[in-house]
Amino acid sequence: MHCDFTQVDGLSLIICRGGSRPKCKFCRKRPATKLCDAPVGGGHTCDAQMCSHCAVTLSGDKDLCPDHRVLPIQLPLLGDAA
Ligand SMILES: [Zn+2]
Ligand SMILES: [Zn+2]
Repeated sequence: MHCDFTQVDGLSLIICRGGSRPKCKFCRKRPATKLCDAPVGGGHTCDAQMCSHCAVTLSGDKDLCPDHRVLPIQLPLLGDAA
């Protein structure tokens, strides 16, 4: 673990690196490399951390977690027109 001391907007922060990478919250084995893009309302997305193996990738470069892959494929995912 390596920690850096820094200041941002007058606040002192300690940023540590070198910890374990986030793991997929579904299989808990592989490193999380994707975030679920399923909309959960309020302009937010699920953002579940998951590995490429657990993610369901839709056309358009959207990924869904196992909890959300039952959603209709044609959802207006992350529509910029919201
Ligand atoms: Zn996984
Ligand atoms: Zn999700």
